[in-house]
Amino acid sequence: MPWKRLSHQLLLPELEMIQIPAHTRTWAHYRVRSRAKKALCPRCPTLSSSVYDRRLCTVKDAPIRDQIVFLKIEKRRFWCKPCRKPFTEYIPGIKKGSRTTERFKRSVVWACENFVDLERVQKAYRVSAGYVFKTLYTRLDEKLRMRQYPWPSTIGVDEHSFRRLKGRTEFASVIVDYPNKRVFELAQGKTTGDLLGQLGHIEGRENVKNAIVDLCDPFKNFIRSHFPNAKIIADKFHVLRLVTPALMKKRFEITGTRADAKARRLLLCSSHKLDHWERKTIWDYLDQYPELQELYRWKERLHKFYRTRGYYRAHLALRQMCDEMALSLIPEIKTLRRTLLKWREEILNYFLTGLTNGRTEGYNNLAKLVQKRAFGYRSFRNYRLRLLSACA
Ligand SMILES: [Zn+2]
Repeated sequence: MPWKRLSHQLLLPELEMIQIPAHTRTWAHYRVRSRAKKALCPRCPTLSSSVYDRRLCTVKDAPIRDQIVFLKIEKRRFWCKPCRKPFTEYIPGIKKGSRTTERFKRSVVWACENFVDLERVQKAYRVSAGYVFKTLYTRLDEKLRMRQYPWPSTIGVDEHSFRRLKGRTEFASVIVDYPNKRVFELAQGKTTGDLLGQLGHIEGRENVKNAIVDLCDPFKNFIRSHFPNAKIIADKFHVLRLVTPALMKKRFEITGTRADAKARRLLLCSSHKLDHWERKTIWDYLDQYPELQELYRWKERLHKFYRTRGYYRAHLALRQMCDEMALSLIPEIKTLRRTLLKWREEILNYFLTGLTNGRTEGYNNLAKLVQKRAFGYRSFRNYRLRLLSACA
């Protein structure tokens, strides 16, 4: 009895051991056969019990304590009377024609998700790179096909670079499911057409109530045309960052002394979060450069605008800020004013919901990590599968 129980644990449930395993430190051979007395013909549903002959075949099974396990299966061939042909018996847990068990494949997929890179998986399981790739991506594809969700109520959209081809950067757009904290879908490219083509088939587009985007037209057009009930929200951090390039440019134009270094570093911090002596350092420094000082004032003004409470007050504050910007002589501020006016509605929507694209940016970071771990991807299909499984 203990022997039977042990063999049940070591082997597949249908199999029994017929020989003590031959083994070394790194591998073990188990001579096994099926317990079933009869088998079903695959061509016609007839049970047969007359054994025609036996064949020996070797199948790789999941490792036990670092030992690679080989099952040497004595497969019987049964004679089917109606078909007048022999057929090979089927062993549950091993796909037809496969040299490895399903349990082994599951173990390889687990290793792919937990090991540092796929080369280590190859070494640990002693399989080829091709086998690892095929097993992993087939399994991920199967998993994804099983769970297909309708659109959630809140989504975040952002893009990141996916690869460089012939000197051109290709982008991938990531759609984040906010309520369920996962990546909802990944699309190749970042134009409205790309998104509509790849995401158009997903059901439930009237579910989407809020969509958070950075200040980029294709995403806005995609959401406008595809989601009838969606409210578009411009991401707070992208709006705050609008003055930064001008501020940086101006700062580099000025050759500062060593004494100014600290003030220059503090320029990009929100002064709301600084101590009073740090603020004093900044203002002492800015007194020497009026144009830089004006840019800095507008940056602070934007930060202050985002601290406004309530939609109506924000609406007034934005209008007043844009009116004052019209008087400015700096070209960057004129551009900023145009952007703010163009995105006015989306910027003010932030004050209704308080939603930002922080989570989407987090998943963008994770996407970079997935890319780095594989030393980059050539196939978008594989990249999408890997990222969706990593963020599920
Ligand atoms: Zn038959």
